Amino acid sequence: MYHELGLGERDLSQSEPRYPRYVIPVTEFEDQMASLKASGLRGVTVTEALQFASPAVAITFDDGCETDLVAAAPVLQRIGFGATFYVIAGFVGNRSYMSREQVRELCDSGFEIGCHSMTHPCLTDLDDAGLRREIHHAKVMLEQITGKAVEHFSCPGGDYDARIIQVAKASEYRSMATSAPRANSPATDQFALGRVPIKRGLKPESFQKLCRGRTLWKLNLQVGMQAGARSLLGNGRYYRLRAAILKK
Ligand SMILES: [Zn+2]
Repeated sequence: MYHELGLGERDLSQSEPRYPRYVIPVTEFEDQMASLKASGLRGVTVTEALQFASPAVAITFDDGCETDLVAAAPVLQRIGFGATFYVIAGFVGNRSYMSREQVRELCDSGFEIGCHSMTHPCLTDLDDAGLRREIHHAKVMLEQITGKAVEHFSCPGGDYDARIIQVAKASEYRSMATSAPRANSPATDQFALGRVPIKRGLKPESFQKLCRGRTLWKLNLQVGMQAGARSLLGNGRYYRLRAAILKK
């Protein structure tokens, strides 16, 4: 799971202090894709990965930043890998995000466009109408832009529950990606796919291990502890407490 790539002196799409850790310099991304290829694994779209024809790594990008098209796509094309780009429908055309034409161009060049909600809220806080707007209407909007079916959804912030899965299914998605760091297999629920966030400065050997599904238990433990704190405190208090701790 990638987000924005760092490209020269470009401004980032978000100013939140923790955000830059998710911004991988494009050279680091290129090295990671080369090491994936050298190890005999292929980078593929979510649609291809879900066929489970051979061991592969689904490459995904969240948010729909402009660097998806101008930085990530050229690297992937050079190496011959596929990828799925989950776009925030309501942010299309905003500064540092792709325009409608750019989303269309990314789709037309053979990459897969998925949906990452309309406005990137915490989905578990929304009522039914809110979920329909964020999950269903966002899909329709992206389909109008690309002219193709948008079949895969990824949850903003990784938050989801049974209601969200139900709305995703009713909106005719084929899969939903979470941020739970686990490897997927034919036995995995396609509406609770695992993904591993790639952060800046990851060591090449750690990247290789993650791509092979090793060491994911450590990440799972961390996420489990975070989720525990969140359900005890509620989302709002959890995020305020986390922000307070991180400032120290
Ligand atoms: Zn996101």
